[in-house]
Amino acid sequence: MFLSSRVVEANESVTLKVNEKINRLARGGKHIYNMTAGQLPFKPAPEFIKVIGQQLNFLKSYQYSSVSGVTKLRCKFMEYVSSKRDISFKDIDDTTFDCIVSNGTKHTLYNILGALINPGDEVVLLTPYWVSYPEMIKFWGGVPLIVQSNSFDAFTPHIDDIKKLISPRTKAIIVNSPNNPSGIHYSDNWMQDFATFLKDYPELAVISDELYSELSYFDPKPTYFYQHEPSLLKQTIIVDGISKSFACTGLRIGYCIGDKKLIDGMSKLQSQTTSGANSLIQKALIEFDFDLLDNFFDPVKIQLRQCAQIVRETFRAENLSHCWYQTTSGFYYFIDLTRMPVYERFADEHHSDKSEEMVNALLEETGVALVPGAAFGYPNSARMSMTLELAPFEEALTKLVKFLATK
Ligand code: PLP
Repeated sequence: MFLSSRVVEANESVTLKVNEKINRLARGGKHIYNMTAGQLPFKPAPEFIKVIGQQLNFLKSYQYSSVSGVTKLRCKFMEYVSSKRDISFKDIDDTTFDCIVSNGTKHTLYNILGALINPGDEVVLLTPYWVSYPEMIKFWGGVPLIVQSNSFDAFTPHIDDIKKLISPRTKAIIVNSPNNPSGIHYSDNWMQDFATFLKDYPELAVISDELYSELSYFDPKPTYFYQHEPSLLKQTIIVDGISKSFACTGLRIGYCIGDKKLIDGMSKLQSQTTSGANSLIQKALIEFDFDLLDNFFDPVKIQLRQCAQIVRETFRAENLSHCWYQTTSGFYYFIDLTRMPVYERFADEHHSDKSEEMVNALLEETGVALVPGAAFGYPNSARMSMTLELAPFEEALTKLVKFLATK
């Protein structure tokens, strides 16, 4: 059996690889601090669980939904995003907006790229980026263009570096704020400058992945370029879902809002592949009061603030304060390993990527499991999730930072 070159050339998920190793070591009796998780470790809001139960009684919960999602839910998502971001889709005169619901945000992004790009089209990515973006772009025959950021600027790329890459072949840019894996959101000033930059490129589609926007635990909260310049909504696709901000990764609902022509294209693609998303969960979302989420996430945000503080204090205790940055949102911290004393043990004269070797050594020597960072477009780095309980988190951080601080 010969596989397609598309599949042969695709990279495997790094987290799957790490988790295989973690499981092997855990089976051998090693105590593991698993800091690789891409999800929160608890059930969703009880009121949401209750409405899912109620919807189990209806025939329609078990039948196909319309391809692009139940109309009431699409309208509800549009109203929710309008009110959360304080924008109005109705004010933008010559574009009609629409919303499509898909089987998770990953599916939403995959369909957006499928509906937008032709082979050879370029899509700009800002490092560190979510691992699946380049794979999806390449799967559709597109070419990822990478804008590097660095840890000295808390992983915020320069707008001038974006500008340098744009050519008539550039179809889209993906902006992910709050960011996975850096755990920061771009500042309001950055968003203002980005809005100014975009005004010169009305043909450039902006895919704004806002999956973590409700999980912001330090002020100021995330803002977006289109809030500075609402006319930019015409070229923007706002992407969101229930995985992170409803703590429901397994229920697989993602959605986006954008130009109706694009949404129709995505709907055509979805009609020939997966059809509509999970009917039961769509119906439950229609009945669920989204306002309840704020209170539900209050204790989570308190814990994330405490974790961020533990990171700062542990770095300081090992004289690594100069390598620390303040995270503000989502639940990740990203480590530039080249700035850590431990890098001397692994570096070679070509500065080749040693993320995997360093993360493997950390795991074997201390039991602390991180995700190697090269797949996020940032060589010699690692991603840490701040989802453990406080006591094991503190223990793991002490071991991790000792490892980082030792040559
Ligand atoms: N976008 C970002 C930035 C993510 O971190 C993730 C998942 O980790 C996704 C999209 C995909 O989310 P979903 O679980 O809804 O497919």
